[in-house]
Amino acid sequence: MQTFQGKGVSGGIAIGPIRVYRREKRAVSGRRAADAETELRRFARAREEAAGQLREIYARALREVGKTQASIFEFHQVMVRDEEFLEAVSRILRTQKVSAEEAVTEAGEQFARMLGQAEDEYLHARAADVRDVCDRLLGCLAGEGSVRAEEEAAGPPAIIAAEDLTPSETVKLDRKSVLAFVTAGGSANSHSAILARTMGIPALCGVPFSPDERIDGRMAIVDGNAGTLFVDPDGGTLLRMRERQEAEARETALLQSLKGKENVTPDGRRIQIFANVGSLAELPAAIEHDAGGIGLFRSEFLYLEKDHFPTEEEQFQVYRAAVTAMGGKPVVIRTLDIGADKQCPYFGMEKEDNPALGCRAIRICLARPEIFKTQLRALLRAAAFGNLSILYPMIASLWEVRAARALAEEAWKELKARGISCRLPRQGIMIETPAAALLSGELAKEADFFSIGTNDLTQYTLALDRQNPRLERFFDPHHPAVLALIRMTVKNARRAGIQTAVCGELGADPAMTREFLELGVDELSVSPAAILPLRKIVRETEVAGGKTI
Ligand code: PEP
Ligand code: MG
Repeated sequence: MQTFQGKGVSGGIAIGPIRVYRREKRAVSGRRAADAETELRRFARAREEAAGQLREIYARALREVGKTQASIFEFHQVMVRDEEFLEAVSRILRTQKVSAEEAVTEAGEQFARMLGQAEDEYLHARAADVRDVCDRLLGCLAGEGSVRAEEEAAGPPAIIAAEDLTPSETVKLDRKSVLAFVTAGGSANSHSAILARTMGIPALCGVPFSPDERIDGRMAIVDGNAGTLFVDPDGGTLLRMRERQEAEARETALLQSLKGKENVTPDGRRIQIFANVGSLAELPAAIEHDAGGIGLFRSEFLYLEKDHFPTEEEQFQVYRAAVTAMGGKPVVIRTLDIGADKQCPYFGMEKEDNPALGCRAIRICLARPEIFKTQLRALLRAAAFGNLSILYPMIASLWEVRAARALAEEAWKELKARGISCRLPRQGIMIETPAAALLSGELAKEADFFSIGTNDLTQYTLALDRQNPRLERFFDPHHPAVLALIRMTVKNARRAGIQTAVCGELGADPAMTREFLELGVDELSVSPAAILPLRKIVRETEVAGGKTI
């Protein structure tokens, strides 16, 4: 038995054969450089091509692994457009008279080395992303095909061992054939680690094996909690780890046994647990984890995955499919929330100095009512087929809610006049700006329900960019100011007799469950995998004051 100690970045135990993943080396040289201008034009074309591929990959990742994990490809898109990178490549092309391939490789290495030396773990992990983007650019320069052609053929289930895995490689692997990830490089912030956590499979990084270590095809055990890889485990280790794997499976089974049970505390308090999804592809997971409904359907993916405005018909098909799939359970669809970190090039938005404080979500919709009304018509038509509600994001003022509702009513009248079947459903608002929380008493008279977006509420209350990794330690959703705004919102909603959901990440935080129950929050909307663990916590939580309505 050989034992390798690395760092566990995703818990759990996997037992099975190792499959060594080897990256094909791309030949960089072998092409004579033309003049600098020609090489620059080739580089510009490759950037265009790479940007297109990344849009497709982002859309696929959004469908398959959700918004948070897909965002890594937004970083790649930024990198492809990065002015500093462009300048570095142009400088090398002009001064060294080399090919675009060589210039991209050299500039990429400079950037990756710089990031690799960063003390900040997050930045350090981004070196792999820079190399990934450069590799994509080289592929485009070599005239390699589309993203779809890249998909990795599925093999039998195995522990994937690699020197390192780039985000693109990780997304390419067939998920059903991966028992665990083991990499020599990488970090807890690397994409394979993040993805493994999302998929709930064990992963290790920093495992000291060399690429020529003969481990391909050998039996192994990955202990994602202790960070250990056992190759050719002896009988005793195999037995011990099997027992632990079984204990974990029992815990999973316990969670499974909670399916169909109510979200009720021992003293009789009830709360709804719904799912957050970003696309139709995530609905089976929501159903599988016994979601009471969809509390947040982020409709922007429909726009982000396209290179044109989705038509009313395209949107209608998706919304109708969502309500139909949920078979009568509530489905809350949030209207378009783009801007800030989510940009659609075809919207032709002007560059902003402060995008998070800029033209985003409801602000774009009210500024461009033709786009908004197309979405509203699709929603009203789908509402005729099931239990659909509309949710307006980024509300800060009363007039915005009134204006949004007026447009919805206008759309409804137009559809009616044309004899098209439709329904004007319940319309709620996101409470994700401090202004909305402070005005919640007034807003409760305008909206049919509230949904508290704790991610943005934290960002805007603490005045810190939620995308900025350097601010991670300041990003505190438990900050007393954020909690005060949440409490105020729930109290005002209860006073007005409307329901409140919490749909930001804080909704799944077990440290907050008791408080949410005590406050009288009606619904927690969380990622599908968090539903059953949350139900378990609710069923074990005694709440001060016991039963409420
Ligand atoms: C939030 O802001 O908490 C939220 C749920 O919306 P998003 O994360 O999509 O901005
Ligand atoms: Mg938000």
